[in-house]
Amino acid sequence: MATALRPSSPIPGRSLRPHSDIEEPLHGFTPKLKLAAYKKHSSSYKMRFRASSKDLNMVEIPKQWYNLVADLPLKPPPALHPKTHKPLKFEDLSPLFPDELIKQEVSHDRFIDIPDEVIDIYKLWRPTPLIRAKRLEKLINTPAKIYYKYEGTSPAGSHKPNTAVPQAWYNAQQRVRNVVTETGAGQWGSSLAFACSLFGLNCEVWQVRASYDQKPYRKLMMQTWGAKVNPSPSDITHAGRKILETDPSSPGSLGIAISEAVEVAATHADTKYCLGSVLNHVLLHQTVIGEECLKQMEAVGETPDVIIGCTGGGSNFGGLAFPFIREKLNGKINPIIRAVEPAACPSLTQGIYTYDYGDTAGMTPLLKMHTLGHDFVPDPIHAGGLRYHGMAPLISHVYELGFMEAAAIPQTECFQAALQFARTEGLIPAPEPTHAIAAAIREALHCKETGERKVILMAMCGHGHFDLAAYEKYLQGGMVDLSYSIEKVQASLAAVPQIIP
Ligand SMILES: *Cc1c(COP(=O)(O)O)cnc(C)c1O
Repeated sequence: MATALRPSSPIPGRSLRPHSDIEEPLHGFTPKLKLAAYKKHSSSYKMRFRASSKDLNMVEIPKQWYNLVADLPLKPPPALHPKTHKPLKFEDLSPLFPDELIKQEVSHDRFIDIPDEVIDIYKLWRPTPLIRAKRLEKLINTPAKIYYKYEGTSPAGSHKPNTAVPQAWYNAQQRVRNVVTETGAGQWGSSLAFACSLFGLNCEVWQVRASYDQKPYRKLMMQTWGAKVNPSPSDITHAGRKILETDPSSPGSLGIAISEAVEVAATHADTKYCLGSVLNHVLLHQTVIGEECLKQMEAVGETPDVIIGCTGGGSNFGGLAFPFIREKLNGKINPIIRAVEPAACPSLTQGIYTYDYGDTAGMTPLLKMHTLGHDFVPDPIHAGGLRYHGMAPLISHVYELGFMEAAAIPQTECFQAALQFARTEGLIPAPEPTHAIAAAIREALHCKETGERKVILMAMCGHGHFDLAAYEKYLQGGMVDLSYSIEKVQASLAAVPQIIP
């Protein structure tokens, strides 16, 4: 046994654990430990599995989520009650969310323990790989190094199960039986359907009509995991019926679908609501990405100069960036942190920072955020997950504090970048992270001009296997750039409530 565990020659720059660590008495070994020790120290394993790149992804899954609020010099403004405009109270949220999630929503604690059962489920796909895009670097002939943190290994194919699992778990702990939600592109609905199936929760999803019709596979995934799926607007809810009265063929929007799901949760005592982005507790859960990535970057001895992620509601971006922002606030690193949004739905770069509703019908709490107006219906770009009028209040606040910057990119440039990525790195990205890829390529091309060897870190938050219709459109030359209309934004901004808290 001991010979099989012989340590191989040390990797330069990395310290090997002392030999005694692995020479435990035989009875001290569990089979799992043996395998871990074997993987770590056996030269034959390393030869077969390319130890250096494998080790990079063998970091431990974090045991705590990180709450950026704890470290901000100025705390974000509170959410307000939609009717009274007074700061929200715990009781205001309890019809919608289980207690633990409400506590997390308003918590100022720096770290929050991840329940063991959740960590155990995370193990199905975590730690997720951090990969250097060497072939993409070569293609664009840049001196920059591009790394991407890939979240597409989860069962639903994106970062969303990182929060779907704890949300379902906290609901199950409180003996909730039914949860409802909305979904745009279908990523969130399928993630929650998966998570609910693990805990025997009933899950009902309102899917934006346009994607319900165009994306049968996401709907079928939800149904496979046991969820009930309704197209939105639906005639099940008051909010849905009101939209259908004026526009019977409405393609729907995330804002409308949120109104429907929130209405059902608010009017049924046995039903709670889940949201896939925007809220503090969602961004909190996603910090497993950044915490893991910090360790992985450390393992390769790199410090990012630029961190890039796409933003719809802000959760994959925040999940990767927040732990790095903590290190930045601590003065340890100083990366540029850049959010990328679609030119057709530019809430950070063109919206206003004000209190607005999270949904179209004005039923959710008022959140201070960058918004294009709650009744703004973005053009049907292919990145359905980025078609949201607002932004996470925490991201908006951090943006206002000047700790990050934002850019907007049109979709044809994004798909051009996606093809370059797919043809060098192999992975076919979801339409949303193509925005991060396009921005990373812009940065890398800039480095080519200046000769800088910057380290670019990018969030590759999901694969595009169910979004191939968008690729078809692009490949056939039928994709156009949809720019947001200033008149449309001005009209919807006029409907934003005037609130002086
Ligand atoms: C939902 C989704 C997004 C947008 O949501 P964020 O909260 O901004 O991360 C982006 N990419 C993918 C793959 C998604 O599923």
